Amino acid sequence: MLNLVLFGAPGSGKGTQSARLIDQYGLYHISTGELLRDHIARGTELGKTADSFISKGNLIPDQLMIDILDDELERNAKDAKGVIFDGFPRTIPQAEALKGLLEKRGTKLHGVIGLEVPEEELVERLLNRGKETGRADDNLETIKNRLNVYHSQTEPLRDHYEAEGLYMPVNGHGIVDEIFHNIADGIEKRTGIKRRK
Ligand code: AMP
Repeated sequence: MLNLVLFGAPGSGKGTQSARLIDQYGLYHISTGELLRDHIARGTELGKTADSFISKGNLIPDQLMIDILDDELERNAKDAKGVIFDGFPRTIPQAEALKGLLEKRGTKLHGVIGLEVPEEELVERLLNRGKETGRADDNLETIKNRLNVYHSQTEPLRDHYEAEGLYMPVNGHGIVDEIFHNIADGIEKRTGIKRRK
């Protein structure tokens, strides 16, 4: 098994690098943001609840998010060679829950890849993505709140995972291929697992 968390601010390239990781390591991808957007698009009750938080740039409550993740692991990740967690955990209680969810399944987290990108670049990337994709929470007001929420609630996870010896910082500014190369080198150094190609 290879279970990785892709960690970083909104706009740090988690989605882009996830796609590379899935391709190269054959991992099952769980993006909590995508799961929630899918519920919103389908108009489910959960989607309605989630939308009221997402549209303002706030996090949805921990227990709700943890239950959704547990359900997703149970339904779709049972036979996976490993999972890439994209956008989860975002708080310390979520990180503690993830540990328990993995332990319950006889496995563990192998590393936390931290994509580090300067703040000005994050805002520019998110505004561009908003223009290109029409994603509703990629507008300046919501972006500013998402970054505040990131600094206050999510960034402390860096120290948390550093203390657990799991944090792997990667410079997330630059060319996508080079960033991926650095991630893959870090994974190999830590776990001995090589990429496919
Ligand atoms: P993302 O696609 O990862 O940028 O997530 C988009 C939005 O979904 C976030 O701004 C949050 O409102 C919500 N969200 C995604 N993942 C989580 C999480 N782990 N905990 C709480 N809210 C989340």
